[in-house]
Amino acid sequence: MSRPSLIGLSTPELQALAEQLGEKPFRGKQIANWIYAKAVREYDEMKDLPAAFRAKLAETHDISPLHLTTHKKSTDGVDKLLVHNGDTQVYECVLLPYEDRVSCCISSQVGCPMGCTFCATGLGGFDRNLTAGEIVAQYLWLQSLSPRRISHVVFMGMGEPLLNFANVTKALNLFHEEIGLSYRHLTISTVGLVPQIRELAKLGLPIHLALSLHSPFDEIRSKLMPVNHKWDVAEALRAMHDYHKATGRKVTIEYLLINELNDTIEQAEALATKIMRMPHVVNLIPFNWVDTGNGFARPSRERVRAFRRHLESKGVNVTERVERGHDIAAACGQLAGQHAGRFARRERASTLPVVPS
Ligand code: SF4
Repeated sequence: MSRPSLIGLSTPELQALAEQLGEKPFRGKQIANWIYAKAVREYDEMKDLPAAFRAKLAETHDISPLHLTTHKKSTDGVDKLLVHNGDTQVYECVLLPYEDRVSCCISSQVGCPMGCTFCATGLGGFDRNLTAGEIVAQYLWLQSLSPRRISHVVFMGMGEPLLNFANVTKALNLFHEEIGLSYRHLTISTVGLVPQIRELAKLGLPIHLALSLHSPFDEIRSKLMPVNHKWDVAEALRAMHDYHKATGRKVTIEYLLINELNDTIEQAEALATKIMRMPHVVNLIPFNWVDTGNGFARPSRERVRAFRRHLESKGVNVTERVERGHDIAAACGQLAGQHAGRFARRERASTLPVVPS
């Protein structure tokens, strides 16, 4: 049986733990500083704690819940980690340095139950939710690889973050309170779970929210995302608009472009009409798998350009995903899939985000 980890506990919880172990509460603050500010992974590095206290802590708690399975570094500066918790379940996180910031993309679940038909993770099934500690530990491990501070966190790795609401919101709190990240630099990407979007709005935090829409038409969206049978395009967009009203944040609409499926001018027109009333940015992601098993293909450059131009002509704010980490299978679910031998025929599934600051 593995021990609980210190990562995942807030400063007040660490202070209570210190007291339980016969120390003064200020020791908890020292531990928080070591694990969250300095990202240490060994008790020996916690120099200002008495050796006897360190030994007691080591008996009851691991520092981090994570173990490394694979570390890949791409030629364009992306690091991707495949990690586990001492069992056979692996999940992924990615470090993405940009000129003006360093971002990371982290997982919220091992696998995913949402079953999106374009996604390697979705096709692999669902194992379990990650704890808040397992979520935050991904950031800390990636931070230990980066000479620059990671300022942005995107929940766009494995899993649907809003299905793991309690752990994800605890992790958001730890990112803000313990690591000092701005809520404005934390992005949740969701398939559109309407009740959870409304719950998130009630927290009143300026967290950036991204909706994976992928078509303004229910018939097509339902083919890509089974969730659309439950909450359709209109309901998902209404919830996003209400989220904007509650938080003041501009929302992102993620749009994966698939050749001759959802990349038509008719859909660009409908998309523009449906989102115009809410402050938004549309992030276009040209589909990039060579073989999905679903007959999906990447649109030509001309089709992507025409789609984008039409949106812009209607006054839509558009960004386009910058592809990174080709050579290391840097996209969501792909490396874990390769590890499990489940997606051997797929070459690439780049769904890495472009996040507006
Ligand atoms: S796209 Fe996201 S929500 Fe959909 S199956 Fe993949 S990981 Fe899950």
